[in-house]
Amino acid sequence: MTNPSDWNKRINPVILGLQPSGIRRFFDLVAEMKGVISLGVGEPDFVTPWHIREACMFSLEKGYTMYTSNRGLLELRQEIAKNLAASFGVSYDPHQEILITVGVSEGLDLAFRTILCPGDEVLIPEPSYVSYAPVTAMAGAKPVFLKTSAENGFRITPELVEKAITPKTKAIIICNPNNPTGATIDRARLLEITEVVRAHDLIFVSDEIYGRLTYVGEHTCVPSLPGMRDRTILLNGFSKSYAMTGWRVGYAAGNRDFISAMTKIHQYTMLCAPITAQIAALEALKNGENGLIKMVEQYNRRRRLVIQALQKMGLPCCEPRGAFYAFPDIRSTGLSSEDFAQLLLKEEKVAVVPGNAFGEQGEGFVRCSYSASINDLTEAFRRMESFVRRRVSKGKVLTFSPGKNEIIKEGICQTI
Ligand code: PLP
Repeated sequence: MTNPSDWNKRINPVILGLQPSGIRRFFDLVAEMKGVISLGVGEPDFVTPWHIREACMFSLEKGYTMYTSNRGLLELRQEIAKNLAASFGVSYDPHQEILITVGVSEGLDLAFRTILCPGDEVLIPEPSYVSYAPVTAMAGAKPVFLKTSAENGFRITPELVEKAITPKTKAIIICNPNNPTGATIDRARLLEITEVVRAHDLIFVSDEIYGRLTYVGEHTCVPSLPGMRDRTILLNGFSKSYAMTGWRVGYAAGNRDFISAMTKIHQYTMLCAPITAQIAALEALKNGENGLIKMVEQYNRRRRLVIQALQKMGLPCCEPRGAFYAFPDIRSTGLSSEDFAQLLLKEEKVAVVPGNAFGEQGEGFVRCSYSASINDLTEAFRRMESFVRRRVSKGKVLTFSPGKNEIIKEGICQTI
């Protein structure tokens, strides 16, 4: 019989070894405080546009309350295929090459469980989204981190990828634009990286959830690059672009073998994504473009405000070009990311996420989400400035030493 103090010993050691998400741990603290301005959560502050909510309500009125096909509503898959073909010139068969998932979160789990075997290695940029390493480990494989830094604009290089490859490397995952840094990878750099990926016969898992939230340059969809369609599992969803985090709907697109295998896991674990969410997603794709463009304009205004505010307080920051995050360097304060976030919360009631929640390379940085109103952002950065000024005497602010093709302009690292 198991001793009551020994239940932990009955738990899968891989799960026991996982750390709870650094973001959630911090926000349990925030939830207990009053008057806090949160720049912490990675979700739009907008409510889902009305026509999308209405489409869902009408669907309930009409009695759409059943399971859908495991792969999701055919009409939604067709609309996704149409959208990908029109935007990026990449074509998928909606019957066999697209699967509707419960957010990109489920897509990531399905992709990794489908392609990874025990002992395989997955290349993961660092800092990066909190779930990549855990889903890799849960699939029995090993995360191998591609360490990026502020000095190179938090962008991976083909050399970095090449150096990390071993005979066990099976796949690479990239999120472009990046959470938490807001960095984007342009087409030319992606082309170089995908050449390495093809040369080593790797699978590319492309998380493009922030693709539509690109403010500088154009988003490149990885499967649209030469020779990449069939070796890429494209993951995307509705959470960020259409302010639909709570609806839990996303999709995976890829070759029919990958998608059929992913569908088997999905069939036995989820069965299907919620029908109401799928109907809402269909409305978003069909009629949501104007609303999306308005939200992107808002994020871009806020992005500029954040860049200026960080410049003013002397915190260096690589120019955020996509998603809705800035990742300033707080090393000049002499505090660790964790202490900076804790003290800022305690002294000024502003919540940010310590950079080390996104891996070791995030130490010395904090993630500020600008999915908050202009008023809240203005006030939050005013408070943050007094906090920083109390700790950094003038003239002591650190700056980056620029890498190739980078300039430092008033503490902001920009690509030229
Ligand atoms: N991928 C990235 C990079 C994210 O930032 C997030 C959420 O923050 C997700 C995936 C999960 O998205 P979803 O809501 O579609 O599950």
